[in-house]
Amino acid sequence: MDIFFSNTLTRKKEVFKPIDEKEIRIYSCGPTVYKDATIGNMRTSIFQDILRRVLRYNGYKIKHVMNITDVGHLVSDGDEGEDKMIKSAREEHKSPTEIAEYYTKLFFEDLKMLNIEIPEIVCKATDHIKEMLEYVETLVEKGYAYETSTAIYFDISKLDKYPILSNLNLEDQKAGARVEVDPEKKNPYDFALWIKAPENHLMKWDSPWGPSYPGWHIECSAMGQKYLGEQFDIHTGGIDLIPTHHENEIAQSKGYCGKIPANYWLHGEYLLINGGKMSKSLGNVYLIRDILERGYNPLSYKLFSYSAHYRNKLNFTWEGMNAAEKSLERLKNGYKLHLNGTEDVEDKTIKEYEERFHKAINDDLNMPLAMGVVWEVIRNEKKSLKFAKLLLKFDEVLGLKIEEEDKEKEDIPEEILNLIEERKVARNNKNWEESDRLRDLINSKGYNIKDTKDGTEVTKK
Ligand code: AMP
Ligand code: ZN
Repeated sequence: MDIFFSNTLTRKKEVFKPIDEKEIRIYSCGPTVYKDATIGNMRTSIFQDILRRVLRYNGYKIKHVMNITDVGHLVSDGDEGEDKMIKSAREEHKSPTEIAEYYTKLFFEDLKMLNIEIPEIVCKATDHIKEMLEYVETLVEKGYAYETSTAIYFDISKLDKYPILSNLNLEDQKAGARVEVDPEKKNPYDFALWIKAPENHLMKWDSPWGPSYPGWHIECSAMGQKYLGEQFDIHTGGIDLIPTHHENEIAQSKGYCGKIPANYWLHGEYLLINGGKMSKSLGNVYLIRDILERGYNPLSYKLFSYSAHYRNKLNFTWEGMNAAEKSLERLKNGYKLHLNGTEDVEDKTIKEYEERFHKAINDDLNMPLAMGVVWEVIRNEKKSLKFAKLLLKFDEVLGLKIEEEDKEKEDIPEEILNLIEERKVARNNKNWEESDRLRDLINSKGYNIKDTKDGTEVTKK
């Protein structure tokens, strides 16, 4: 069955044609490990996970590369401001390496909680300084880059076309362009490949231009080229990466080898919080750990994210999380009912459902449509083992662990389960006093509770 992707590069939905049928090569821009990953970041990670799972459902082998940005990503996402890693190190009184290690560990814990598969290759920018340097040197040799007193810049005027991916109008932008960071830059849209380090800069390496450090965009070009070659199948990231990071990756690759690095560029839309942006000042930056601490199963968040297509905005609310948590329970119960079912269903019925599910996921990863089919199977009045098997097959894509029992539900009296539910509501409403009261009550009735990464664990004392 054909797979269709909305390709940012061509602005069309296109049938997917792999370069090599034997193995699909994918590059995903990974996290900059200077702070906690938010549930918004995780929405993008879930979309990338679905892409992997859908390709595998279609029988493909995958070579997926994800980078870890631990140097060079400046606060502005462009050429201005401090390195995010250094800023964070200063604020948290740690070294950039400690910051990177700490947030990388937390990032992978989040992936685990969401049952997101780890790409075949995970590569750190600071482990690839040599490759990046070689890439920049080639660009200089080929005349695509020039040196100023502060950096080595890519010269966009040397390209036949810039921009390619985004709708930037260079003329419009020039008029209102911000004050240049470096007046020696030839064009406002030239961007830094390599940056000369001021004295006392915490991260710097020797280079033909003295102690310096890489720009953010070069790491993805150099690591993509190293692990996937000059051209691969799919490049993914969040929608915000289109106009700068991905545009500039394409520019670098065109200068380096004359090619656009990937054939299909897929971008995930943003997660909104109560209809607006997630921001520290609004106090609405949520992490997967917050979801866990409020007593939800993190996988309910994954299910919640399937309520919108990855190319559409998704609005997060705690009411939405409540509904998703209930849906996950219904899904698990529905699966169990089929598992214990004794009725027979025609193979034709199974095949029809399977085809509809397959068509939905192949239609540009249409998860809301695919979930519609899942719910039809769950609700089917005939309870049959065949349906249970089908649901397990679907779960290879959903990654919701539908066959896993909720630990808290085993052999625990109804009364205690109800108190746990009440406590969940209290925690949701940030009513910590009530939450503590309920915990004490549960304890007094002979049960211990513990909030773990898989939900609330209940054990008999
Ligand atoms: P940041 O940590 O802001 O640099 O973001 C890292 C990646 O997560 C970026 O590629 C963004 O596209 C993605 N991202 C950040 N915020 C959100 C959000 N609210 N919804 C979806 N993706 C996001
Ligand atoms: Zn990247």
